[in-house]
Amino acid sequence: MVDILKEIHENKITSDEGYDIIDETVDKFHDDKLTTTIEEELNLNKYEWAAYCYTASLETIVRWRYKGWPIACEHCGKPINYQKYYWIVREDKLKCLHCEWFLISILDRNK
Ligand SMILES: [Zn+2]
Repeated sequence: MVDILKEIHENKITSDEGYDIIDETVDKFHDDKLTTTIEEELNLNKYEWAAYCYTASLETIVRWRYKGWPIACEHCGKPINYQKYYWIVREDKLKCLHCEWFLISILDRNK
C-alpha cells in the first residue's frame, strides 16, 4: 500500500510516477492480485477516488487534500459540501451538477 497523495505532497514521487503507480495498481486489480480495493491500496478516500474517476489531476487532488476542497462550485459559485456529493470535476474544477445538467441541456438543444 502507498499513500499516493502524501508521497506527491512530500515530493517523494512526481505526479507522473503517481500515474504509473495507479496504472500498475489497476492492472493488479484486473489480474486479481489485490486483496483490497484500488482506492484502499492507494490510500485514497472515497471522495478523492471519485474526483480521480472524474478525471481530476493528481496535483489537484493533492491540493484539495492538503489545502482544502473548494467550498463552492467553481463555475456558478453555489456552495458545495463535497462530502455530500452533487458535484463533478471538469477541467480540474469542482462543478455542481446543476451546472453540468444545464450545459448538457444546452448541448442537447443545439443538436
Ligand atoms: Zn455550479
